[in-house]
Formats: sequence, structure tokens, C-alpha cells
Amino acid sequence: MLQVQGLTVAYGPVTAVRGVDIAVHAGEVVALLGANGAGKTSTLNGIVGLAPVTGGTIRFRDEDVTGLPTERLIRRRLTLCPEGRRVFTALTVEENLRLGGYTKGRGRAFDEAVADMYDLFPILAERRRQLAGTLSGGQQQMLAIARALMSGPELLCLDEPSLGLAPQIVEQVFELITTLRGRGVTILLVEQNVALSLDVVDRAYLLASGEVAGKGTAEELKASQLVEAAYLGLH
Ligand code: ATP
Repeated sequence: MLQVQGLTVAYGPVTAVRGVDIAVHAGEVVALLGANGAGKTSTLNGIVGLAPVTGGTIRFRDEDVTGLPTERLIRRRLTLCPEGRRVFTALTVEENLRLGGYTKGRGRAFDEAVADMYDLFPILAERRRQLAGTLSGGQQQMLAIARALMSGPELLCLDEPSLGLAPQIVEQVFELITTLRGRGVTILLVEQNVALSLDVVDRAYLLASGEVAGKGTAEELKASQLVEAAYLGLH
């Protein structure tokens, strides 16, 4: 579904990602793991058109989408749920969902998508008229994911969904990832919670200093020293 080859992302003189190759197949959940500053967010942002790609190619569903603006990628069903929850705090829950579903217009498809999100996240249905800024951190994270899902992505890029959440809520986020996979959403996940990630993903790539330092199935990575090495900068 996604083939990234030789991806390079640079912010002016700072090269954050260097020649990264990643493949994600339909139906998979794949993680990008690595220490702070390893280039995980820059890789995701490069894929979705939010960071400057200075080299490499990105193919999505057999088409070259390198350099396409984020908005066009969303219409092609490649959507990012960014780090830090970034919900519109001064808008209601439902207004946030509406913005996420703008590609669906205002007709039946939109209403169905909202109803589907309320099925998946009953707490959001209860709070539909509440301002997003008054939700708890965990509820805001659920809203951010629901908003991204409103565009009907085939590939959802999820950046650090468990960051800053209480342990119980973190578990709910990982359960949700499993639920989404059951619904046929393919997921590329950036996470700092390695142990929980390796319980829900099929495969993972380890990034270190902007390069792929290792990769494998969740089982292979659990059994190897590669993960520790990447986090300790020993690759
Ligand atoms: P974290 O988990 O801390 O977000 P990460 O693995 O996602 O880390 P990135 O955020 O992609 O890493 O950062 C990779 C490198 O690029 C770092 O050295 C960072 O300082 C640099 N960087 C990231 N964003 C920018 C930017 N907008 N301008 C300049 N340098 C940046």
C-alpha cells in the first residue's frame, strides 16, 4: 500500500531523515520506533506532505505521490493524526469531526461517518456539544483520532497517540489500534511506548539518527537486542 524509498527530509541545513526505505502492506500495523530525535515524526510528516522532502519517492496505492500536498493525500485516503492531539479546543466535539470530514461534504456520507465515530467512541457522542478544550487528555486523543478517521483513510499515520496519557488510557489507545486494524484500516504508527507497540504491530522499523537501523516482525524485534541498541544509540 505504501512504499517509501530513499526518503530524505531536511530542514534547511539540518537533515533529519536520510535515505529511509519503508513498506506498509494493506491490513498491516507497522511501527516506527526510535529514540527522541531519531527522525520518526519527520518521516511521517514527510510522507504526508508536512515536512520538506529533499530526496526519495513515496508511492501510495501504486501511484507516485511524492510532493503532493497534504490535502490531496487526504482525498486519496492517506491521513495523519498528528502528535500532540491538536484538536480545535474552541470548537465542539461535533464541529471537530465536521472539519475532519470536510472531504465528504454535508450529505449522507458525512452523517454516516459521524454516526460511525459515535459508535466507535461513545464518550464523544455523550460530549458532542461540549467544547473540545474541556475534554480530558485521553478524550482529546480519541477525538483527534476520530477526526482523522472522518476522512475515511485507507492508511492512517498515527504520531505518538499515547504521549502524555495516564496508563489506563494508554491501554485504551492500543486497544483502539487493534480495533481499527479489525476494521481494515492500515496503520503506520510512531510510538515511544515500545513494549506496548510490539504487542499490537505486525512489523516495526527502528530509526536512529535519521536512518533505518533495524527492522523486523514484532516477534523478531522482541527477541533481539536491536531495539535497546537503537534507543541507546549503539546501532
Ligand atoms: P521525537 O520523538 O522527539 O519527536 P523524532 O524521532 O520524531 O523525535 P524528529 O522530531 O523527526 O524526531 O526530529 C529529527 C531531527 O530533526 C531532530 O534532530 C530535530 O531536532 C530535527 N527537527 C525536527 N523538526 C525540525 C524543524 N522543524 N526544523 C529544524 N529541525 C527539526
